[in-house]
Amino acid sequence: MNENNNKQNGQGPPQNNDFKLFMRIIIISLIVTFVMHMLSTSMVSKMNQEIKYSDFIQMIKDGEVSEVEIESDRIIIYPKQQEGVPYLGNYYYTGYISDENLLPLLDEYDVEYDVDYYSPVQENSIFMLFIMEWVLPICLWGLLFMFLGRFVMKRMGGGGGIMGVGKSNAKIYMQKETGVTFADVAGQDEAKESLEEIIDFLHNPEKYAAIGAKQPRGALLVGPPGTGKTLLAKAVAGEANVTFMSLTGSDFVEMFVGVGASRVRDLFKQAQENAPCIVFIDEIDAIGKSRDNAINGGGNDEREQTLNQLLSEMDGFDSSKAVVVLAATNRPEVLDKALLRPGRFDRRIIVEKPDLIGREKILQVHAAKVKLGKDVDFKKIALATSGAVGADLANMVNEAALRAVRMGRSEVLQEDLMEAVEVVIAGKEKKDRIMSEKEKRIVAFHEVGHALAAAKQKNTQPVQKITIVPRTMGALGYTMQMPEEEHYLMTKDEILSEIVVLLAGRSAEEVEFGLVTTGASNDIERASQLARSMISQYGMSDTFDMMALESVQNRYLDGRAVSNCGDITMAQLDQEVLSIIKTCHEKAVEIISSNKEALVKISEYLISKETITGEEFMDILKQCDNPEAAEDKEEKSETAKENTEISDETKEEN
Ligand code: ADP
Ligand code: MG
Ligand code: ZN
Repeated sequence: MNENNNKQNGQGPPQNNDFKLFMRIIIISLIVTFVMHMLSTSMVSKMNQEIKYSDFIQMIKDGEVSEVEIESDRIIIYPKQQEGVPYLGNYYYTGYISDENLLPLLDEYDVEYDVDYYSPVQENSIFMLFIMEWVLPICLWGLLFMFLGRFVMKRMGGGGGIMGVGKSNAKIYMQKETGVTFADVAGQDEAKESLEEIIDFLHNPEKYAAIGAKQPRGALLVGPPGTGKTLLAKAVAGEANVTFMSLTGSDFVEMFVGVGASRVRDLFKQAQENAPCIVFIDEIDAIGKSRDNAINGGGNDEREQTLNQLLSEMDGFDSSKAVVVLAATNRPEVLDKALLRPGRFDRRIIVEKPDLIGREKILQVHAAKVKLGKDVDFKKIALATSGAVGADLANMVNEAALRAVRMGRSEVLQEDLMEAVEVVIAGKEKKDRIMSEKEKRIVAFHEVGHALAAAKQKNTQPVQKITIVPRTMGALGYTMQMPEEEHYLMTKDEILSEIVVLLAGRSAEEVEFGLVTTGASNDIERASQLARSMISQYGMSDTFDMMALESVQNRYLDGRAVSNCGDITMAQLDQEVLSIIKTCHEKAVEIISSNKEALVKISEYLISKETITGEEFMDILKQCDNPEAAEDKEEKSETAKENTEISDETKEEN
């Protein structure tokens, strides 16, 4: 995106220019002070010259003195003015000597004398000197410090001089035209539909005002990271053809108490000046966290003030102005209830992970910018990427294009895309990793174990691909499974057979080699998690029936669950989990043992080829099962291998 070009400044030139100005002022004031000093000292030295007492007497006798002032320690001598030469107030002086002949001498030569210190002329010049030596430099230095202060404030994020701490600075992005429309956002039809009304309102607010309808103030986009929330907000601005102003929640959080609040005020002020417009606050959970959240140790004054300011601005802004506030978060559960009240972010727009069709559309949108080969089948890629969000898919298309370039091709082929899927999910191939023959055998049997368990349980999907080429993200090998279609519900049996598949990798190691390795740690973790969720969240156990023992905290992020039951119940829960795992482990061992012939055959084949497809796998399996009837079943299996899901990475443990 080209946000950076549109960086909008609260006021004045950008910081870099400020710094230059600041340096210039320092240099100028140094020079001025220096020059002033030189000037005044030279003037003083020229104007006030010390002379010898004897010269003074001589001057009187020569008739060059017009006036004399006698002080306690010196005598000031004003010379007679020459014709046509302007008098600058200069004088001579000499030390005071107690000389009784002086006064008669002065009388004799008609020189005026007194004991006054200042003559009017001299006062004037001393005043000038005072200004030049003291007032001007002080003013200049004062100015300098003002700029210094302002500069430091800006650096610290305040801006606007010492008086204007917290005036919003360069962090608001303002785009007159986002250049993004709904066409750039694939899928997410429900979200778009909800946003249509907001667009309509921005187009003609009068229509709503005429009938007396209160316009929507704000909408909250909620969903997992990478699903296109930010993109949607921009698209709304693009569709409505209004200015897009955006800030991230964390931009409000500053070290000074009150800065965030004043930034909110400023944001809304600017928004009203720029109406019609969309104000977008990304990651609003940074400021919108519930105020009575014990986890945060009671409270955070700064954040609370910022939130309060936001709440009051949302209530208070001029409703005749077409300003709509959008916000995005992936942690809606932590938001303060006050934010969700009617009149604020009362609309909640769910931006879910894309489904099969959604993924296909997203791939198409992003692939529109790359040259595609004829064999590209987005449906297959979409099937292979269940669970991937828009950001992942965009990344995959780009990875595929990069791979095509690396391969020296001018267009992207299906194999590039398939490889990219694996790169994004499991990391790059690590061809230089040298595994010993023994390790390779173990990994191969482990992976084929997973695949066998998947194929042998009728509830589990057949496999798509098995590989023992290690990947950078820690997988030594993996098995890709293919759901025949996307489904949103899982039965208890399906979960149980998935646990069996997860445990079958290790089971194959046991059955074949009679030993266990660290390679199954990820399988074990996932199997245990599934078993636990079955009991604690899905109500799938007899003991606890439909009691919720755990609740999910942030369902759009890692989905971590927190317990809400007592210690004894927890211990019982652990027992239940253990018994599920044990039963499934037994079942896995049983499946592997009764298919030992196929296990060995397929594993040997895998070791020789390193990567085998689902078809190859099924062929060997069918031969082993039923050598005669292998041909009949051919078609059946063909239809069943449409989609994929990576079910396992054998995590390497260090
Ligand atoms: P979020 O704000 O929800 O974390 P973003 O809006 O920043 O996600 O999306 C990141 C990138 O992923 C976008 O720039 C876009 O390239 C891609 N993307 C996400 N969702 C979609 C979608 N529905 N259609 C097209 N591209 C998408
Ligand atoms: Mg975002
Ligand atoms: Zn495994």
